[in-house]
Amino acid sequence: MAANRDDWDLVLRNYAVRARPEEISPNVCLCHTDTSIVIHDRYPKSIYHFLVLPRPIPGFIDVDELTDLRTLFKCGREKAKKVLDGLAEEAAKLKKEMEENMLQHNKFKWDIWIGFHPVPSLKHLHLHVMSADLCSDAMKIKKHYNSFHPQRGFFLHLHEVLSWFEAEPSFYARKIQLKPSTYEPLLKHDLECFHCNEEFKTMPKLKEHLQEEWDTIAARERPIWARKKAARKRAEEKKQAAEKARAHGADEGHGNDKGEGASKKRASQSDDDAEPNTKRARTSESLPEDEAGGSATEPET
Ligand SMILES: [Zn+2]
Ligand SMILES: [Zn+2]
Repeated sequence: MAANRDDWDLVLRNYAVRARPEEISPNVCLCHTDTSIVIHDRYPKSIYHFLVLPRPIPGFIDVDELTDLRTLFKCGREKAKKVLDGLAEEAAKLKKEMEENMLQHNKFKWDIWIGFHPVPSLKHLHLHVMSADLCSDAMKIKKHYNSFHPQRGFFLHLHEVLSWFEAEPSFYARKIQLKPSTYEPLLKHDLECFHCNEEFKTMPKLKEHLQEEWDTIAARERPIWARKKAARKRAEEKKQAAEKARAHGADEGHGNDKGEGASKKRASQSDDDAEPNTKRARTSESLPEDEAGGSATEPET
């Protein structure tokens, strides 16, 4: 059944409170633990885009305290820190998996951003774990873009939020207020490429440029990763040959090819059009689409 207008902002919460997350479609839920669940963002704003949601824990934290960063901080410093550390741990594991997937499917890996939105439009705290490209069909409007721009200030990097705990109490107290009036104006900023700061008048122009930026990085990085892979392969072959030689009692050594570029493979052109391998949920329980109305001017999640 379609989420009706009254509960569209509860989609994330509905996942987080599921007693048996293993029953959620694998197209939606990537994995879960007793304390968190990882889902695919319904409208990914980058090639890879996941959300880590904390689950309520009886006797420790209830669902209302997990509404967003502000409600979490209201639970007190210690509790907030514990929840954030838990999310950080999950995000670190996820990042590793994403990097392996990048190497496998894109033949190189690029940065991954991990952070929160201070003024989310959906209920339930969620940590964005996304590849640093902002290349996605679902990236449509200025607010979306600025909400993920890594230096704009609206995207709160996890390491930044964690650093508040180390700061002066007065700084911490100010930061955890997370006043919408501090953050919302940031979404109106002019469109600027997060790689090179070039300004763009329209989203289509910016998106075209972001794709070019990513293609440039891919073209630069793929040969490097191909060489690394070839070097690993040669080392492995050498090791195997040495073991074989030892097993035979012979010890003449094997002349392995040391030519750096010898087995360097060119990344095939088709890699450039490689489908993002994040499977997207297309279930009726998924997040509301922009066109669904009402949320069109909000940051997606
Ligand atoms: Zn640029
Ligand atoms: Zn969000």
